Amino acid sequence: MSSRIERLRELLEEPLLITNPVNVLYLTGLDSSNVALLVGPDRARLFTDFRYIEAAQAVEGVEAVQTKRALISWLSENLSGRIAFEANVLPWSFAEELREGGIELVPRRGLVEQLRAVKDEDELDAFRRACAITDRMFERLVSEVRFVGRRERDVAWDITRLYHEEGADSESFEAIVGSGPTGARPHARAGDRVIESGELVVIDTGCQVGGYTSDYTRTLATGELDGEMREAYDVVLAAQQAGLDAISAGVRGLEADAAAREVIEGSDFAGTFGHGLGHGLGLDVHEAPRLSTESSDTLAQGNVVTVEPGVYLAGRFGIRIEDDVIVTENGVENPVRFTKELLTVS
Ligand code: ZN
Ligand code: ZN
Repeated sequence: MSSRIERLRELLEEPLLITNPVNVLYLTGLDSSNVALLVGPDRARLFTDFRYIEAAQAVEGVEAVQTKRALISWLSENLSGRIAFEANVLPWSFAEELREGGIELVPRRGLVEQLRAVKDEDELDAFRRACAITDRMFERLVSEVRFVGRRERDVAWDITRLYHEEGADSESFEAIVGSGPTGARPHARAGDRVIESGELVVIDTGCQVGGYTSDYTRTLATGELDGEMREAYDVVLAAQQAGLDAISAGVRGLEADAAAREVIEGSDFAGTFGHGLGHGLGLDVHEAPRLSTESSDTLAQGNVVTVEPGVYLAGRFGIRIEDDVIVTENGVENPVRFTKELLTVS
């Protein structure tokens, strides 16, 4: 962990106050909801209240400092000088409070996020384990769980249970189970809709192991589909393969997105893929880098990204296929084993 603080130091022009708890977790291993880390040129101070102080004292390479519960107010009374802060994280009211305490604040963005985007071997191991559990969850989901005649939320609950049984630390987000028209809304929650036969069901789900998350999507059939649905499935599958083939270190997020998007835009389903191709994955479900038409990121070896094109026909159905891959020098390592063939469940 202390080597991560060392790498951060190389990026700093002034001491940086880190207030995003996930960034503090990444740099120190301390998981606290009320925490700040001040990284200066030759020391790092970890501020937290009574509830976490013992854990903070166990972190090597930092000085643990106990504050009152109102941590920012304590910092405004006890820090001074020119300090950089995470401008995309710290609420305006807290920034005001620090400034009123006499601190000269310098806004900085994305410094720790930039480090987090490139995973080390320990992080990749945790991620691969999360994928192995997600594979087993999907295998059991399609063989053991009944879909037709049950509510989307009942299937979502089965997913939670299967993760627990397969040894995940937790589910990383509430599973999306989008049947029929629900599936046409990419981030619809699993609701009370009863799944019927002969439709498509989008399952988007992930679990967490050692802090690291997986994020898969498969689209399943509940019986015989019409020709348009089958055609759309093949288009999404081809787009996903084109996206996977386009990815390697040095490729821009924009280019990877375009490779997959072209396949859909060149099909009968042009204009129905309304979101980006993918996102970074790690301690958070959505982090750097981004693969989209708006991305300014360039992929690097050790990035973990999702590849998830989709086709969405409002009021009718949606299809998305999502894998999580590790970016390598010449392509990707894809730890996702669960099949992408169109499966029929009952
Ligand atoms: Zn997903
Ligand atoms: Zn995703």
